[in-house]
Amino acid sequence: MFAGGEGELTVTVRMKVSPEPEGEQAVLDLMRRYRDALNYSVRAVLANKALSLGKAYRLLYKDLRKRYGLPSIIAAGCYKEAIAIAKSWLRNPKRGEAPTIKGLSMRLEHELGYRVKGDYVELIGGYRLRVIGWDRRYDDFPNRDARLVFRDGEFTLYVAKRVPRPAKYAPKGVLAVDVNERQIVVGNSSVEQRIETPVERALHYMRLAEGLQEKYSSSRYNAWLRRSGIRRRVRYFHRKARNIIEDWARKTAHIIVSLAKQSQLAVAREDLTGLIESLRKLPKGHRTALIALGYRRLAFWIDWQAEKNGVPLFVVDPAGTSSTCPRCGAELVEVGYRRLRCPNCGLEADRDTIAILNIEGRALSKMGGTLTSPTALQMTDVTPNRWGKPP
Ligand SMILES: [Zn+2]
Repeated sequence: MFAGGEGELTVTVRMKVSPEPEGEQAVLDLMRRYRDALNYSVRAVLANKALSLGKAYRLLYKDLRKRYGLPSIIAAGCYKEAIAIAKSWLRNPKRGEAPTIKGLSMRLEHELGYRVKGDYVELIGGYRLRVIGWDRRYDDFPNRDARLVFRDGEFTLYVAKRVPRPAKYAPKGVLAVDVNERQIVVGNSSVEQRIETPVERALHYMRLAEGLQEKYSSSRYNAWLRRSGIRRRVRYFHRKARNIIEDWARKTAHIIVSLAKQSQLAVAREDLTGLIESLRKLPKGHRTALIALGYRRLAFWIDWQAEKNGVPLFVVDPAGTSSTCPRCGAELVEVGYRRLRCPNCGLEADRDTIAILNIEGRALSKMGGTLTSPTALQMTDVTPNRWGKPP
């Protein structure tokens, strides 16, 4: 999502769009033809090893135009996307069956495939969709490729834009982020804030899905019922659970990065790769899967938000952050539920506070001399209770 040249970021602007009522069927037909053409193309590309644009063009272009009735630019986008899907499937060492695309999502090349004109998006081939709303912050930057998606009865156009990468400020201190399955702890030696994770709320929907699956897998229900409506409902609950985690990760990252920016601090988070890997080795359960997803998405959004806002970011080694003394480095001993004490210097604190202090310390030592005023943490304007919770 944030690829781009040296000094540039690619951001994606989401536009809610809607075809005129009389044009909706035509747009949906086009998107269905695109999906069918894409599935056909992926198979053809794989079967003929046509992984170059020239080969794929010769193999597919005519079919995509005639058999699937795609406008020429959309046909070109279709075999390009097929090549990308085929390549990523070939790269996956654990690949199973060749991928099948089920959702309605159509790639549109900039300039040629679509145009935004006033309050309308025009697709090649004379399709028009009204723009209902979008994030206008990036209006001044030219549109790049886009993707039209139809899901849950709504159309969304995702438009890529290149924007200059903001310069990073010289941090006055560190805002450390520590994660555990129940909460995210954000802070440093002066402040601390805790944000609950939505794992339990998301789990509720996973359990609903599971309940439905169990109930209708019984042979008392006929095959038709088992196949159609129930399966859709189960998918809906799974998606709902994932959306809860995703929304939370995005909003929490936004809170963390805004806070850091406000006080000109660097954000420091642990490298979560090892943690996510170890979760993967646990017996497969919904809870572990959701926790791992939450960690992955939070790290992703923190990195992205920091990049987009010019906030310096440090990813530190997580080894021992919640078991060694942040003051003297001695091994801590447990003195109560999640409470730790240093036998050497006497420091006693909550496990999460210890982690925050260690993460802060590791980031500070990585920063070395770059700190502008190492002793004066400018946190006076941010009291913990004004930090807010993710909505
Ligand atoms: Zn100590």
